Amino acid sequence: MRDELKAIEQDALANVETVKDIKELQAIKVSYLGKKGSLTGVLRGMGKLSPEERPVIGEIANQVREAITKAIDEKSVVLENAALEEKLKSEAIDVTLPGRPVKAGGPHLLTKVIEEIEDLFIGMGYEVREGPEVETDYFNFEALNLPKDHPARDMQDSFYITNELLLRTHTSPVQARTMRNYKGEKAVKMICPGKVYRRDTDDATHSHQFTQIEGLYVDKDVKMSDLKGVLDVFAKKMFGEDRSIRLRPSFFPFTEPSVEMDISCKVCDGEGCSVCKGTGWIEILGAGMVHPNVLELAGYDPKVYSGFAFGMGPERIAMLKYGINDIRQFYLNDSRFLKQFHQA
Ligand SMILES: [Zn+2]
Repeated sequence: MRDELKAIEQDALANVETVKDIKELQAIKVSYLGKKGSLTGVLRGMGKLSPEERPVIGEIANQVREAITKAIDEKSVVLENAALEEKLKSEAIDVTLPGRPVKAGGPHLLTKVIEEIEDLFIGMGYEVREGPEVETDYFNFEALNLPKDHPARDMQDSFYITNELLLRTHTSPVQARTMRNYKGEKAVKMICPGKVYRRDTDDATHSHQFTQIEGLYVDKDVKMSDLKGVLDVFAKKMFGEDRSIRLRPSFFPFTEPSVEMDISCKVCDGEGCSVCKGTGWIEILGAGMVHPNVLELAGYDPKVYSGFAFGMGPERIAMLKYGINDIRQFYLNDSRFLKQFHQA
């Protein structure tokens, strides 16, 4: 029986030594130490031994069991480590491979143009103000000398939320709000960029939503010549030092007198071409001296204070500057159009 046990030990150790994976090792464990295993089988026969032999064989059997268990445990650690090693190797990431390029976006062309205009006026001492896009009838119209029955309201038909609330049709209410905040005591020098809305049918030159930048300068002794000087600087910085401007009489309810500003056509240099429709001039913006009623409604004494205001559409500026022929391009979010201007 002693030899039988020794033979089982040698056999088991040899098997454990050559085993290649953890499942096989498990099978070996069962085949020697399991309920029906060979070692267990031998131990069952111990009942037949004499009382003297029993403890001696019992001790040997325990040693054999321990030796086999130890060998299996050690081999199990070795095999588990090898399996982990293999897994790490197969799942390794090659950090030396070049990465997939991330497509970088850029600001929308309109955002760029608005920021360029803002920078220009900030440089001349203007502050940038914002206001609500859902505006009251009072600030959108009445405070700007457009009472409820004024015919000029027709040009600015808009989206009404209630009789007294609407999507603003211009950024002018921000001017009215700012003047009111200054309580008729302080000079106002501001621009207000933002989105505005009108009930226009979309086509190449109209959009129901567009952007505006308006400017306002109210102080003691502001003259029309100051307006002309500011607009001249703006035109030259925006469209080139060789551009000249002209002011044509116009009408706006909130300014008196009112003007339209044109710049000389860059394409034909004033000779007349298809871009300027043969006139040599291109219309850029509207402006004028703030109407005394508007000053008075905002709490400024028109006998002491005067001012000028101007308003332009960044879409139009961008279309002229970059040769864009359809205003809808700004809002279609076609990346083929938009990414042309990422470097602009
Ligand atoms: Zn021209």
